[in-house]
Amino acid sequence: MLKLLGIPYDENSSFMQGPSLAPDLIRKMDTDGSANPFAENGQLIKKDATYQDLGDIDFDGLDAKQAYTKTKDIVFDQLEQGHKLISLGGDHSVSFPILEMYAQKFPKLNVLHFDAHADIYDNFQDNPFSHASPFARLMETKLIYKLTQVGIRTLDSHQRQQIKKYDVDVIEMKDFNFNFINNLKGPLYISIDLDGLDPAFAPGVSHHEPGGLSTREMIRCIQDIKVPIVGADIVEYNPKRDINNMTAMVAYKLYKELAAKILE
Ligand code: MN
Ligand code: MN
Repeated sequence: MLKLLGIPYDENSSFMQGPSLAPDLIRKMDTDGSANPFAENGQLIKKDATYQDLGDIDFDGLDAKQAYTKTKDIVFDQLEQGHKLISLGGDHSVSFPILEMYAQKFPKLNVLHFDAHADIYDNFQDNPFSHASPFARLMETKLIYKLTQVGIRTLDSHQRQQIKKYDVDVIEMKDFNFNFINNLKGPLYISIDLDGLDPAFAPGVSHHEPGGLSTREMIRCIQDIKVPIVGADIVEYNPKRDINNMTAMVAYKLYKELAAKILE
């Protein structure tokens, strides 16, 4: 069964908060009447018909370590029952506990990561859980077969070293084309940071990094994948920066395309 999990958590954001408000606003795009619940391949994506909504994780009163542990426990429980997850909301730090559990469940897990940023700092502001470091923490586990990053356009010298150290495949935005899709292997998990898109397409993010992917390019990447997808997250939606919920609608559209691909 496909499950939607809301992750209202932004305590590990380095610049501004807001992604904790994301899950409900993205869900609202399904119910406000302006869009229909079909993916482009014709697959219906509807609550209780094609997926179940687990609601939001309650992080009330938890510190970063406790939030990490609680997220892991919930994800572990779902994976043990054989479900697949798409999570909505949160800053990018939430991908680490999710992926740690996925990597334990699926040996030789591969990860496709869309982002303007590599998020692979060994140490950012002395916060090991920072949203700038989830892919460093993940690669340290040595549980990932291959990490592929797409849309990256902010690499500094340290991050280039980290990428070399962990043998990451990086498709920098300046070199972007679709060829990498043929090299992806399954089982594949997809992590979408919405700032991988150009801010013109997705203004509702904390870090406006110009020169990114178009919405159509990201959708084509998802639709053209030929290997099994076992889960996904859509992170870093910041409603405080959005204009008329247009980025919430982008997130909802991507959710439908990911769900259709998982159900394929
Ligand atoms: Mn990110
Ligand atoms: Mn980013």
